[in-house]
Amino acid sequence: MSKPDGSWINWFVNLQANEFLCRVPYEYARDKFNLTGLETMVSNFQDTLDAILDSEFNTEYGFEDGETHPEKAEQLYGLIHARYILTRRGIADMCIKYQRGDFGICPRIYCNGQVVLPLGLTDRIGESHVKVYCPRCQDIYQPNARCALLDGAMFGCSFPHMFFMQLPHLLPEPPSEKYTPRIYGFKLHKLALMPPSAELPAGSDYPTASSPKKELTSEKAKPLDSNRLTKRRYNFSLD
Ligand SMILES: [Zn+2]
Repeated sequence: MSKPDGSWINWFVNLQANEFLCRVPYEYARDKFNLTGLETMVSNFQDTLDAILDSEFNTEYGFEDGETHPEKAEQLYGLIHARYILTRRGIADMCIKYQRGDFGICPRIYCNGQVVLPLGLTDRIGESHVKVYCPRCQDIYQPNARCALLDGAMFGCSFPHMFFMQLPHLLPEPPSEKYTPRIYGFKLHKLALMPPSAELPAGSDYPTASSPKKELTSEKAKPLDSNRLTKRRYNFSLD
């Protein structure tokens, strides 16, 4: 049974800046088995744990024992949270948040508003802030500014991958479109992006009408004499 709630946990996860976090059930955080190994990672472990599990947290004055450091409480909760969200129940909790879009959407245009999941770049507290992972383009991005200061270790490196291993039916198709750079509607030939003064590698020629290069053989471009080409800043190939 979850503890009803004037607890620190309840107060903490309801802060706007902590929107990415789910609420670790009281009984999970109280179970010593789940916390194995964390004793050495947070100083004053037992007192900090007691403080975050206390059912009466004073939101105005903070921890009343005068000893629990808020930062230690956050670190311990973060480490417990990272473990909890890898459990079946934790994944179910995070799935609700994922489908609701609590973690935001992929900023990549061709991902079409794909919802993302949080992850850490390391599993160690204090090393880097949270990032978000897009399962469509399989890349990572900065999260929205409100939650950007959360520690990435509160989620860990494995979370999104474990999530989709458990819920493979939620894995989206890879993006079908890719951005193509164009100028005035024309695709850029790869030579167009070479510095204007760049020397061509020995043995290579600018493409001509007889060149096997696909971009030019398959199009209606007229052969241009190579003297003129060397002075061109842009080379276009037609669609
Ligand atoms: Zn994406």
